[in-house]
Amino acid sequence: MPRSLVNGNYHLVIAIESASRANSWYRVLADRQTGQLSCDCPAWTFRQNGGITLRSCKHTQAAQLLVNAQGQVDIRRTGVLVERASGAAANTNLLVQSTQQQWPGLGGKWSVEQRTGTIDHHPYRFVLLQLATGNGTTATGLVAFVQRFHTTTQSMIGGVAGWAGYAIAAEVARTAGYPMAGQPPDHFKVTRRGEAGTTDRRRRIGLSDILRVGDQVDLGDGYTPTQRAENTLRLFLGEELYTQLERQHFLDVSSVCYASEKRIYRVRRDPAKQRERRVRVFKKGYYSNDFCIVRGQNVPEADHWLTVFLGLISDEEQTLSVVGTYNVFDPHSDDYIQREEEHIPAIWHPRAS
Ligand SMILES: [Zn+2]
Repeated sequence: MPRSLVNGNYHLVIAIESASRANSWYRVLADRQTGQLSCDCPAWTFRQNGGITLRSCKHTQAAQLLVNAQGQVDIRRTGVLVERASGAAANTNLLVQSTQQQWPGLGGKWSVEQRTGTIDHHPYRFVLLQLATGNGTTATGLVAFVQRFHTTTQSMIGGVAGWAGYAIAAEVARTAGYPMAGQPPDHFKVTRRGEAGTTDRRRRIGLSDILRVGDQVDLGDGYTPTQRAENTLRLFLGEELYTQLERQHFLDVSSVCYASEKRIYRVRRDPAKQRERRVRVFKKGYYSNDFCIVRGQNVPEADHWLTVFLGLISDEEQTLSVVGTYNVFDPHSDDYIQREEEHIPAIWHPRAS
């Protein structure tokens, strides 16, 4: 992973397709503290002179034009409008639908805007997705496609659902107290250590291993839906958080709607990764109830877990709307094999700004 991604202090501003190689991507990142942009193209990476503040490349220069003084993406400054839709109209847009399919559980009001423009004299198509979550976060994802490589909307599905969806899911996770989640993958591939005990074997998981939409899904890759769902979860959470989930079999989500009772949702995972577990609800530190959020038909267990997690951190009200009184149970209601006590305190945190 490039140095520019350490510690989750950066966010993905835009993914820009290489002008010479279709479906090869450069990522422009912004330092959350300073707003300083960086890129992972060779020109930026190897231009060492002048120090980091003077470094630039055609990608950071293009991104600079798309970011306003507050560091937010504002593509109205560039190119020519092709399409703009929000709310119900956006929900019929193929690119929005694909992103929702790739990242199920993200809830709120979606918007999409497409513009044409140029980067370094090459014609590009810019696609901006925005999600105003039910929990009050506004997140954006921006992708620039080389026009001659992508003449149809269909051909842009993978890039949009992958990069823009990723950026949005990451921002939602950050505001929910999980800044380490959603670190942008390294190009289309991430090289990482294998499982414990196989330390020298490196396996690569990247966007192409998790996409389940669009023409970039490689159906010949040998992954089952279950493996693809596990890859998605692992890549999205990142090694540290994924390891934490593997160790303690839950992650906690602090409630936004029920802040006054310091409510926590303990989103649990079956160690055997088979059945769905009920969400344990804590109020002011005390374990009070189990919520049953039913898994959709034929959905891999990892997908269900991520859907509930993303649902609670993005749109708590919508996620709870499926929990009728008949889905609220007394504590320990699904301890079928043995009684599972809680030893780790559930500590409520206010949402990050
Ligand atoms: Zn660059």
